[in-house]
Amino acid sequence: MKIRNPRTGLYDYELIEDTSKTIKQKGQDSRMAQKQWSGLGVKKRVAVLRNWMKTLKEFQNEIIDQLSIDTARKKIAAIEMDGIIGLLQGWCYRAPQLLSSPEQRKSATVSTVMVQQQWIPYEVVGVISPWNFPLLLALIDVVPALLAGSSVLLKPSEVTPRFMDGLEKSIQAVPELASVLKLVRGGADAGKSVVENVDAICFTGSVPTGKKIGAVCAERFIPAFLELGGKDPAIVLEDADIDIATDAVLRSAAGATGQACQSLERIYVAETIFDEFVKKITQKAAVVTLTINPEKGQMGPLIFDKQAKKIDDQIDDAIAKGAEVLTGGKVENINGGLWCRPTVLINVTHDMKVMTEETFGPVIPIMSFTTEQEAITLVNDSIYGLSASVFSKDIDNAVNISSQIEAGAISINDGSLTNKVFDAEKNSFKESGINASRMGDAGFLRFFRKKALLIQTEPPATMMGFEENQE
Ligand code: NAD
Repeated sequence: MKIRNPRTGLYDYELIEDTSKTIKQKGQDSRMAQKQWSGLGVKKRVAVLRNWMKTLKEFQNEIIDQLSIDTARKKIAAIEMDGIIGLLQGWCYRAPQLLSSPEQRKSATVSTVMVQQQWIPYEVVGVISPWNFPLLLALIDVVPALLAGSSVLLKPSEVTPRFMDGLEKSIQAVPELASVLKLVRGGADAGKSVVENVDAICFTGSVPTGKKIGAVCAERFIPAFLELGGKDPAIVLEDADIDIATDAVLRSAAGATGQACQSLERIYVAETIFDEFVKKITQKAAVVTLTINPEKGQMGPLIFDKQAKKIDDQIDDAIAKGAEVLTGGKVENINGGLWCRPTVLINVTHDMKVMTEETFGPVIPIMSFTTEQEAITLVNDSIYGLSASVFSKDIDNAVNISSQIEAGAISINDGSLTNKVFDAEKNSFKESGINASRMGDAGFLRFFRKKALLIQTEPPATMMGFEENQE
């Protein structure tokens, strides 16, 4: 498979794909190795993952360089690597605490019976990840699954596969890890084979793919933890600090070129402050610099050419239906890369794709509202329910409004806080996903099935207990 370079548009990398046969073999090998891995106990697994942390650091420059080509972003590539080290540290600390007491025997409500719980990890977990944060979203589910005692088949996106070369070296340098963490290379077909060879799936990606995977998992009777797309809204109330709100909305909407699931993609502003909000965000958007020189600027090219087409199509659709473009407004081909400047749109309505479909680009459509109830109705008029933002100086009112928003996480007076705060559990609402949260303790506990051992301490009841003749 030839892979496109997002900065040059050239197909300059070749991905050697796994076949259904090699994936089956990897599944069998990791299943064999899992028994020993789970038998090691959590403390020894922590020790292995701490060794991996060291080898990740040894190979980090190589991985960051490859990731920088995959995504055409240097700073965010380094942030992804730091995020993984932080994730490893966090789970290596927390996992042993979470496993410290589940096996104690205690009395049941039936006084003659003692109960003991055993936590049984899924044998092989499949992780299938997208291209927008290739390293972070590949490993975010892998680390807790491994610590739980599962083996993992990991298939990152075929759009951004270069970083796997360095990652593979860091894994192979820790043999105990290499037997239980296997990388799978390829696209949709490889993903399908992963689903066929595992006992649980963690999938991060689009809604259409998530639905397909969910259906196959339902057929196979295995759990699917689905983290899907969004169309995150922000409500900016009349009493909001406009400087704070415009800074946060711009950073959330245009950071990583808008290629984040929790990017703010539709903004509802109280009509009394609408003009000032629009003026300020337009001024701030106009000075964002593209990283055409890779050493300078804040915003890189679009990673995936197919996504660039969707963004252009949504902007054209909005313009055709009456939207006004205040900055940006089209995808530009510069030296083979596809770039989109922050695009502020007004005169937008919910008849436009840009207000209803996921954009995954730095487009900021802004609508005004007159009452808070109207804002809440507009926000909830969506098939998505990933996350949202509310801006107000009155935190109690912001919390009250948040409770009426149909989404799994609400950032108050900021945007996209779920990309740096991992400790609060959140479930996606509507089509943005399903099943236990990857955040908080659930991010670890979801990899176990609970087994109940029920110990009778007195002679058991006999058949005579069912005797109908009471005399
Ligand atoms: P995608 O659904 O096209 O692909 C994701 C992964 O699934 C890739 O590895 C792909 O090869 C694989 N795949 C494709 N078809 C498959 C099939 N039939 N069976 C098994 N695997 C298959 O998504 P994408 O374009 O890579 O990623 C962008 C999407 O991801 C956006 O919708 C974004 O919102 C979402 N996303 C969600 C989160 C979250 O945490 N909720 C985070 C990041 C991205």
